[in-house]
Amino acid sequence: MSKEKAIATPSKTKEYLNKYGFTFKKSLGQNFIIDVNILSNIIKSAGITTSIGAIEIGPGMGALTEQLAQHANRVVAFEIDQRLKPVLNDTLSDYDNVEIIFQDVLKTDIGQVIANHFMPGQVIKIVANLPYYVTTPILMHILMAQLPIESITVMIQKEVADRMAAQPNSKSYGSLSIAVQYYTEAKVILNVPKTVFMPQPNVDSAVLHLDLRTKPPVHVENESYFFALVQASFAQRRKTLRNNLCRYFKDKLTKDKVEVILTKANIDGSRRAESLLIEEFAQLANLFYKLD
Ligand code: SAM
Repeated sequence: MSKEKAIATPSKTKEYLNKYGFTFKKSLGQNFIIDVNILSNIIKSAGITTSIGAIEIGPGMGALTEQLAQHANRVVAFEIDQRLKPVLNDTLSDYDNVEIIFQDVLKTDIGQVIANHFMPGQVIKIVANLPYYVTTPILMHILMAQLPIESITVMIQKEVADRMAAQPNSKSYGSLSIAVQYYTEAKVILNVPKTVFMPQPNVDSAVLHLDLRTKPPVHVENESYFFALVQASFAQRRKTLRNNLCRYFKDKLTKDKVEVILTKANIDGSRRAESLLIEEFAQLANLFYKLD
């Protein structure tokens, strides 16, 4: 299909809005893309080729779905809003390699869907313009399920993308950076202006690319213990690591004991959490865990 006919233009989007009397629901994060060039960029950055199985979250009117259908082998998309059924039936009627599953992605066993809808061994990639109100829960739902997928390329709120991809000693670095980078190699690949959306969101956007790791970059004895300790270390960002850890362990360990562990890990307790590498968090978490 030529670009002139693409769904992602202001005029086509308006045409479908009018045809189906569709009204945007802010509560579902409905900001549709009206710029084909942005979509081409996303498809290229995601490495979508004719052998790829693509999963999309939130197809909306099908702007990105259409591009995926043209470039991938097969597309499976999850959409929570049943009102989009007739719209998507219409906009995607030219494509027989697309299936839309009308359900909440957070309540979906995506692993099961992959097993049922794609060929065994097929390379699967997730590509989406995510609803901003629920970006982090959706990404953590996907990452924690440890799915057989190669990468995730998503348009999200710029501030969240920066936090997910942040490196130590930066303002954006925090427990979200560690959680995401434990599972993936994260990179912000494109900043996107508000003008490419209808309606325009209040926040700036960015495209984040996550390559899934085959195994975590560090060994941790207990993952939930590790993530809890990382979160506690950042509880009060401006305070020292010693201070945050003493507060976290106050009912369990004396300050001296916390200091002993910090020394054993060769980490200066007067540092702030934002200066710690993931390896250092892993080392600390493993030492504290062994005490439990
Ligand atoms: N992909 C379209 C585009 O780029 O124009 C629409 C993107 S819009 C930002 C997000 C879409 O996600 C909406 O269609 C919304 O209804 C849908 N959505 C919101 N919450 C969802 C959920 N929990 N599960 C599945 N879809 C959801």
